[in-house]
Amino acid sequence: MYIVQIASECAPVAKVGGLGDVVYGLSRELQVRGNHVEIILPKYDCMRYDQIWGLTKVYDDLWVPWHGGAIHTSVWHGEVYGLHCYFIEPHSQDNFFNRGGFYGYLDEVRRYTFFSKAALEFLLKSNRRPEIIHCHDWQTGIVPVLLYEVYKDAGMWDQRICYTIHNFKHQGVTGMDVLWLTGLGRPEYFMRYEKMRDNFNPGAVNLMKGGIVYANFVTTVSPHHAWEARSTDQGFGLGPTLQTHQVKFDGVLNGIDYDVWNPEIDGYIPSRYNVDTIQDKYGNKEALRNRLMLRNDYKPIIAYVGRLDMQKGLHLVRHTLFYCLEQNRAQFVLLGTSPEPHINAYFWQLKHHLNDNPDCHLELSYSEELSHLIYAGADMLIMPSMFEPCGLPQMIGLKYGTVPIVRAVGGLVNTIFDRDYSDKPVEERNGYVFHQTDHAAIESALDRAIGLWYLFPDQFRTLMQNGMRYDFSWNHPGARYLAIYDYIRHK
Ligand code: ADP
Repeated sequence: MYIVQIASECAPVAKVGGLGDVVYGLSRELQVRGNHVEIILPKYDCMRYDQIWGLTKVYDDLWVPWHGGAIHTSVWHGEVYGLHCYFIEPHSQDNFFNRGGFYGYLDEVRRYTFFSKAALEFLLKSNRRPEIIHCHDWQTGIVPVLLYEVYKDAGMWDQRICYTIHNFKHQGVTGMDVLWLTGLGRPEYFMRYEKMRDNFNPGAVNLMKGGIVYANFVTTVSPHHAWEARSTDQGFGLGPTLQTHQVKFDGVLNGIDYDVWNPEIDGYIPSRYNVDTIQDKYGNKEALRNRLMLRNDYKPIIAYVGRLDMQKGLHLVRHTLFYCLEQNRAQFVLLGTSPEPHINAYFWQLKHHLNDNPDCHLELSYSEELSHLIYAGADMLIMPSMFEPCGLPQMIGLKYGTVPIVRAVGGLVNTIFDRDYSDKPVEERNGYVFHQTDHAAIESALDRAIGLWYLFPDQFRTLMQNGMRYDFSWNHPGARYLAIYDYIRHK
């Protein structure tokens, strides 16, 4: 099958969060299974150009219709670990993708609707006719709309679209001018409730809603989150739309790439191990302590790796840190950053305050390499998220024998099963789960985990091994996505 992914991120060249991992991991799996996969991305100035092989300009005179005129655009091709990537480079005063960062600009909607339009224009003009176009998140929500309303008649009548939502919180709610910018026009048609009109603001266009309405199939990144988005406030207002379209909506759990996340072959960690040589994990604990200048003590290390976003339950992350220090029974390590200045400032303040404490370390940066050492060196990993469509760190933690302590939301419900209370067979239980959002809830889970670590180390080790035996590779989701593609092609 010929599949084109259109997305704003792809690891490792342009990765901010899980979206980048998914676009890369899914594409690799599809390619390994014999499909022809191409990925279309913006040509950001801040990409990891060292990870792109043979970057060359392949299309120089693409004129992308925009706001009644057209923007001169070049398209580049390069390989990212064997994957064919095309990079869209507009030559306009707007300077859409040369800003030194990926996200966080005032004209975000313009940047990505232009990108969406340019991606389709590129497919059309270069005579690419993929069987499946798979687009992701609000940034490309307008792709299915444009395909059906504009590009179908221009010659792309046979393409089918799968649209995956990784985060319902950001939907691309914007003014009607986006209709004129992209050439859709006809507000009386597109601003109807059953089309692109935002469910709350009658004067606004909702790009994600457009994606849901027009795509042939819609997925989100875990089965539990699919239910939450449809039936609770976690759909951030799109619940009714998902209900309407529920026959074409499903949750597919993300995978992780075991070529990247595997303690047996991980090039970033000093001591490699697997489920049978789990004692070698402790070489990494020592290396982590040396690297972060933590004291060598008989204590578990509890870690947090992830964006510093309120979504992640930052009040509980902070509480865990102080709880560990107060109780004096665990060390705490954090790796994360935030694009929001006030959150960053808060954590920097915390870092300065705790600078000399030998039992904790806050690393406020983005470091792929340190993240590997933390996953390998820590004993437990917390994810006290307020909402979590899928979540990757808990699956990575499992593979590294680092026991996840998670709140029961979204994909965490589909992946982590409580050691004491789950109804799964004992050998399938792999972590600790709590439900509420208050301090007492996480404390009780932490107490159970830390207690087991001290009092029953053998049982703790069994729990680690249970987790390591799980298979959260792209194998299952790859097969599921292919089945979806097949279904929408023949429907
Ligand atoms: P989200 O997409 O909400 O950011 P996910 O759990 O889906 O969250 O994905 C997070 C991914 O980003 C994981 O692979 C995690 O290891 C990685 N990550 C997040 N923050 C950092 C950081 N500061 N340094 C290194 N890796 C990070």
